[in-house]
Amino acid sequence: MADYIYTMELRLTPNQQKGVTLVQDIARNAGMNVYLTGGAVRDIISGFPIRDLDFTVQGNPLKLQKELERAGAVIGGADDDFKTIYVTLPGGVRAEVSSARTERYEKTGKPPVITPATIIEDLRRRDFTVNAMALSLNPGSRGLLMDPFNGAADIEAKLLRILHNYAFVEDPSRLIRASRFAARFHWPMEERTQARYESAKENNYIEYIADRTIGYEIEQLAYEDDPFTVIRVFEKEGWLKILSPHWTTAKVDTNGLSQLMKTRQQMNELGYAPDPSPAVLHFLTARLNDKEASDIRKAIPRRDLAEAWRDLEDNAKDLAKRLNGKEAATPSRTWKLLTSARPEMVLFLAVTARQQAVEQKIKNFFTKWRQIQQKIPLPEMTELLITPSLPEYPKIAEEVFMLLLDGKLRSRTEIVKFLKPLAPPPPPPPPPPRRGRGAKAAAAQAPAQIAQPVLLLQWLRRPRIPSRSRKHKRRHPSSLARYRRSSLQNGRRRRLHQKRRRAGRSIRLFAHHWLASAPVPAPPYSEQWPSWLLVFLPLVCSAPPGCGGSP
Ligand code: ATP
Repeated sequence: MADYIYTMELRLTPNQQKGVTLVQDIARNAGMNVYLTGGAVRDIISGFPIRDLDFTVQGNPLKLQKELERAGAVIGGADDDFKTIYVTLPGGVRAEVSSARTERYEKTGKPPVITPATIIEDLRRRDFTVNAMALSLNPGSRGLLMDPFNGAADIEAKLLRILHNYAFVEDPSRLIRASRFAARFHWPMEERTQARYESAKENNYIEYIADRTIGYEIEQLAYEDDPFTVIRVFEKEGWLKILSPHWTTAKVDTNGLSQLMKTRQQMNELGYAPDPSPAVLHFLTARLNDKEASDIRKAIPRRDLAEAWRDLEDNAKDLAKRLNGKEAATPSRTWKLLTSARPEMVLFLAVTARQQAVEQKIKNFFTKWRQIQQKIPLPEMTELLITPSLPEYPKIAEEVFMLLLDGKLRSRTEIVKFLKPLAPPPPPPPPPPRRGRGAKAAAAQAPAQIAQPVLLLQWLRRPRIPSRSRKHKRRHPSSLARYRRSSLQNGRRRRLHQKRRRAGRSIRLFAHHWLASAPVPAPPYSEQWPSWLLVFLPLVCSAPPGCGGSP
């Protein structure tokens, strides 16, 4: 069993990882099996950036809405028929949660008959083999890849392959999807798929495309990294007029679009992550009239995206007005205003601002003012003990930066002069070193000031509690010792007793023979002394010849 959990965790951004955990926990608590499916799995395996997360649950995802909202997710739209919810998870992670289902197409152009199904059955209703894979997020099988059509091999071969011959007939939106994936990944269609594609195009099956899928495919355009390339392919294939009858590449504001992508890149490098999708739709449809643009908006299933696109210009005008007003009268105030504004708005305004003052302020925000940040004198601040460990450090650093922005602090001397009163009081000087007995007492009194090696030495030399004496242990054996003694030593003790008895007998025998052969010396022995002493004393004196034992 290939374990893809490690690959998944490696490839997802921290916010996406949190999103996966969140959906997985909420689905599990609701008693539903949950899988990561579709494009997310394809991108994890292929190494392309993971743009959104597609979850499939065995159950009704509409029931998860409240829990998701409680966890900070925003529900952007829901499709009751297909049991799908469009969500933005905390951290701006785009996700889609749909129910595992089968789709049976009875007539071209008619919506399919939907029935709840297992995950493997659900994978059979997908568009291409590379999109028909699932990663289990369930306990016990987490990380198990389900790939019934060998999509991993097609990813390896960089090929788009339909699952069966009727794929384009059943759902003509797959023609548009095939062009989109081919344009994005530069993956050609496999031979049979290409033939079916051409045949579907010739027979004009695209006429039967469902309105629901039109809106869905327009929305997908907004998330492309290079939307103009994709829209050009759509135009060439004849799909663009299907999405909107008057839409052509001539209606696209190409300058605005490329400027948008450049600024987005610049913002990403500075650590901002603006969602460019509303602005992309704005530039893609820049020269369509209001009615045409509004029709496109209505078709988009994710309502929050449609509304963000609709309100984009008004919100940008509002921000521009604030940038021209008192709220942004000084560089520091402008900085505060732009950092608190939504990054999407700053991005859009950076591209569309026509007033020179606004343009200049945004430009400064991205370039010049950031260089001023480098002027904050960190070594001097450290010398003054103003370090990040200080609770008020962020406030002080920001204050210095704001004063630098407004030109109220210019030189290092001025900055240091400003910082001095804010510095914390220096720590008390260390006590003078003591000698002799006093040193020990001082060390005990000021343990915090003792250097680490000294502490280690002290620890090593710490007084130990004396271990219990052998006698004590013998008298008060622990239960373990008692057990050991009884079980292990019983035999040994018996043998020892026998040995001692035998030794005693031989000593007595030896003594008897020795005493019999040697005359008992008079002094220092006495008749009253015990007989055993008479045996041992000459032995201890190591003498038959010494100790008066000599004949
Ligand atoms: P992207 O990177 O563009 O988001 P994606 O594969 O995730 O690619 P989505 O439009 O988000 O595309 O669709 C999610 C998944 O739903 C697809 O991977 C595919 O398995 C399935 N799907 C979407 N549209 C269709 C369709 N018309 N027919 C069959 N399956 C579809």
